[in-house]
Amino acid sequence: MKKISIIICDRYHTCAGGKCLRALKNREGAFALYKDEKDVEIVGYTTCGGCPGGNIEYSPAEMKKNGAEVIHLATGLVVGYPPCPRIQHFCDFITSKYGLGVVIGTHPIPQNYYLQHKQLKTWESAKWQEYIQNVITDEKTRLAYD
Ligand code: SF4
Repeated sequence: MKKISIIICDRYHTCAGGKCLRALKNREGAFALYKDEKDVEIVGYTTCGGCPGGNIEYSPAEMKKNGAEVIHLATGLVVGYPPCPRIQHFCDFITSKYGLGVVIGTHPIPQNYYLQHKQLKTWESAKWQEYIQNVITDEKTRLAYD
């Protein structure tokens, strides 16, 4: 049994989590990392707390207590306009302070965000390519998440 937690961008704080839950069930996007795991349990779900992300400092403690091994920074962090500028800080801090794994992304990037960011050239750098590697998927999958 793999235990994970999700932290979403507070801009999407009313999000009901449908895309993430579907992607987890289908093992799509970043959850394809668990394609060989029969059971994956979400033991925590919260927002960053709003810019600059104050909830990142404390929420991983409860997630860890609940058995989380990995924290996913939701896809909203990379697709928002603008994308979260603090992703690297969050990754470094969670790993350093809590010793938990961090994965950038949850559900596949929806096609409409993919096209808009392509036009904006948001993800052209090597760093951004690395950030979105687990959620860029393919056009058919992206369209299914529009
Ligand atoms: S942009 Fe980053 S810091 Fe700001 S609300 Fe979204 S995840 Fe939090």
